[in-house]
Order: sequence, then structure tokens, then C-alpha cells
Amino acid sequence: MRVEIKGCQRCGQDHPVDAQPLSNPTDQFTYWAMCPTVQEPLRIVVLTDGPPVRSPTARVLKED
Ligand SMILES: [Zn+2]
Repeated sequence: MRVEIKGCQRCGQDHPVDAQPLSNPTDQFTYWAMCPTVQEPLRIVVLTDGPPVRSPTARVLKED
């Protein structure tokens, strides 16, 4: 699933990623993706609220 990351946890930039669903999520982070800038994983909260959108959107929350 292609999603746009705002304020990436790893590099701090905005960029799209290919998000993969976690097999056993334990909280609101249900997807993960690899940051293309530093090649490290980030956890993703996918927002499904609001009006229908043509493409999925995602928001990355701070881990700390
Ligand atoms: Zn990044």
C-alpha cells in the first residue's frame, strides 16, 4: 500500500513509502515501512477516518 509519510520518524522528511501490514499489531501501529532515505523501518498509523479518499493516507506518530 502506497502511503505518504509526513515527518518521517527516521529522516524527518515527507516522502511516500510502500507500507506493509504487521502480522500481529499490538497498538495503533498496524503497518510498517522502510524509510527510503536511511533504510531503517518505521511504524505507521493508517488513518481511515474522514471522507473517502482515492488513495490511502498515513500518519506517523512520534515513538517517544
Ligand atoms: Zn524517512
